[in-house]
Amino acid sequence: MRNYNFCSGPAALPEPVLRQAQEELLDWRGMGASVMEVSHRSAEFDAVAKQAEADLRELMAIPANYKVLFLHGGASHQFGMVPLNLLGGAKTSCDILDTGIWSEKAVAEAKRYGGVNTVKALVQRDGLFAISEPASWKLDSNAAYVHYTPNETIGGVEYHFIPETGGVPLVADMSSNILSRPIDIEKFGLIYAGAQKNIGPSGLTVVVVREDLLDQALPFIPSMYRYKTHAEHGSLVNTAPTFAWYLAGLVFQWLKAEGGVAALGERNARKAQKLYDYIDASGFYSNPIHPSCRSRMNIPFRLADESLNKAFLVESEAAGLMALAGHRSVGGMRASIYNAMPEAGVDALIDFMREFARVNG
Ligand SMILES: *Cc1c(COP(=O)(O)O)cnc(C)c1O
Repeated sequence: MRNYNFCSGPAALPEPVLRQAQEELLDWRGMGASVMEVSHRSAEFDAVAKQAEADLRELMAIPANYKVLFLHGGASHQFGMVPLNLLGGAKTSCDILDTGIWSEKAVAEAKRYGGVNTVKALVQRDGLFAISEPASWKLDSNAAYVHYTPNETIGGVEYHFIPETGGVPLVADMSSNILSRPIDIEKFGLIYAGAQKNIGPSGLTVVVVREDLLDQALPFIPSMYRYKTHAEHGSLVNTAPTFAWYLAGLVFQWLKAEGGVAALGERNARKAQKLYDYIDASGFYSNPIHPSCRSRMNIPFRLADESLNKAFLVESEAAGLMALAGHRSVGGMRASIYNAMPEAGVDALIDFMREFARVNG
């Protein structure tokens, strides 16, 4: 029996995707071998790679002047690759909007390769955490790019708007909310996302980059760190993470069958709203984020009596609700409800929380 899995990442994958992968594991496309065991240069794998890219382009409505890269590694690699690839032109500094732990990691890495103007974008409003007024941000019109984290996976803070940068390329670490709602790609210079939250298994990172940004890399960087190298070789410079790429492709097909990103966006809004509504009304649980910027993907919450945390985790686990512990740096609880979390999983969580509060409140 499968649990409802609230892990922040690696996160739950859609069950139909896992079933298809299981069915095809021993004998993929009549090849007498699994997809993991065939050449990344084979016509069969090439078809997988091209289909995955075409499906992602369709799902996100990515224009032709953007490259889609399927890279090794995690989003953390991009904290370095972004400045290495974008700070080697005439402009040698960047702005980074700081809304929490993931933004701060991006700041620390970018500082190794150029100037960083860190813009504090998280403030207190009505006793809750909130994204500050964009009018208060001191952005540098001469920056090479502005980096932000549309969804802070640990804090549970999400922008429900796209920052205006006055023509400076906008870079987004979309690891935990890519494909969760429709977005206008043309507002972005570069988007990256580690796969293990909303795309597929870990070990793969997707980068969507506007072509005109491929020519401003720092000269000394290894060719494997250059976006341009990967763009010129269809992300097949060397042995790609083929199984992760294949699984990502199955997830894209599942997303299309579910009605695409618009349909998922509505479902995600509904899932998050009912959980927040329950938390706010409960008198037993609380969420520290201002309603204007609450995440639809990662919902942290605390119990009024934290001595009950252990019991909450043991009993939720026993009820088939997995991985609700908050990030080790903040404690409390967190429910990650990405695309693959069905609405029934959120309903089951709310039922459990209500019963736990009734017995222990
Ligand atoms: C998970 C996450 C990361 C780190 O991803 P890795 O693939 O583990 O390097 C970076 N940014 C955000 C927003 C994340 O959610």
